[in-house]
Amino acid sequence: MYDGNNGDPFFQEPPEIDDLNVDRYFAGKDLEALTRETYDRLGFEVRDVIARSDLYERAGKDQHAFCLRVGRSYPYDVRVLANIRDGAYWMNTMLHEFGHAVYDKYINPALPYLLRTIAHINSTEAIALMMGSLADDPGWLSSVAGVSKEEIASDLGELARRRRDEGLVFTRWALVMYRFEKVLYENPDREDLNDLWWDVVERTQLVERPPGREGEPDWAAKLHVALAPVYYHNYVLGNLTAAQLRHHLEKDIAGGPFYESEIAGRYLQEAFFGPGARDDWKTTVLRTTGEELNPDYFVKSLR
Ligand SMILES: [Zn+2]
Repeated sequence: MYDGNNGDPFFQEPPEIDDLNVDRYFAGKDLEALTRETYDRLGFEVRDVIARSDLYERAGKDQHAFCLRVGRSYPYDVRVLANIRDGAYWMNTMLHEFGHAVYDKYINPALPYLLRTIAHINSTEAIALMMGSLADDPGWLSSVAGVSKEEIASDLGELARRRRDEGLVFTRWALVMYRFEKVLYENPDREDLNDLWWDVVERTQLVERPPGREGEPDWAAKLHVALAPVYYHNYVLGNLTAAQLRHHLEKDIAGGPFYESEIAGRYLQEAFFGPGARDDWKTTVLRTTGEELNPDYFVKSLR
């Protein structure tokens, strides 16, 4: 995920809840070790990926985070770039990027070279989003991150509210990107792009346009429009797939929290990652969960 941690001018996330400071769960903790522990419990070996990765800040370094697979020759060369700091943001980001990494790493090398890749961007985002969301999952916070059960118990209502708000706010924001880019590419030469941008923002996010922005390139300040165009819908499809996949893993495969289960890890490896790009993303969802993409699971996860 291309993401920065520099304020939220596009209202991509809900405001933090005053009484719930999720950063405190990770104060003084080793986020690299928690990432390793999380993937260990699923039976995924990430030490080789960590050894090739560049995880900490230094002057002049790219400030974002991403996962990279260099070529498709086996053994695969998978690396993560991050800039770990204390707090929930980088915990989520580390779990997210290593979700991309295990998908890349566990693609079956017996496949033809050209099929040794992900089924689709939304498929790898689904794994990354499912893993990243553990950073505010009450069960994971208690069993893996070592937060006391009493602390979690007193935060349960706020954590649920935060998760629901994030799902709703992010989905509306992603639809702004989708709707704006769709019209932009229908007619890239139109002169009223900023008007169009704010029309879509007002209609979709219910955020009023500030005065005096006529003819300004506000829309162009969003990095993805220029550098990762027509990408945002993959996060929405990824969230839908993640909710459906987690439901299936916990109900039919692990019989409990998927992040505690090597069986769930083995299932992901064989059913989701292994077949690589042999099938398209829709077939990948059907093959792995037993049904076509069904948004009900995401909707239920917001209740
Ligand atoms: Zn991502």
